[in-house]
Amino acid sequence: MTPAGEELGRPHPNTMQCSDCGHVWFEGERRHDYVDAVGVVTIEDGADAVCALCRQKRGRGHKPEDDEGGYFTHW
Ligand SMILES: [Zn+2]
Repeated sequence: MTPAGEELGRPHPNTMQCSDCGHVWFEGERRHDYVDAVGVVTIEDGADAVCALCRQKRGRGHKPEDDEGGYFTHW
């Protein structure tokens, strides 16, 4: 599923504050992942550790694979 932070030489995302809302993970709480600007889990340098909620928010309205399929988001 998600690349483990340890393998990348950086802290596990669960040990990081959520970059978007400041959520602090603890046992039983929503997980954190390193994601890019549109909420896709990534191992790239500069990725932000964000909680599951913020990851969904980042992904909302950004569905490049659907752009040609008549999927529209209204703002
Ligand atoms: Zn968050």
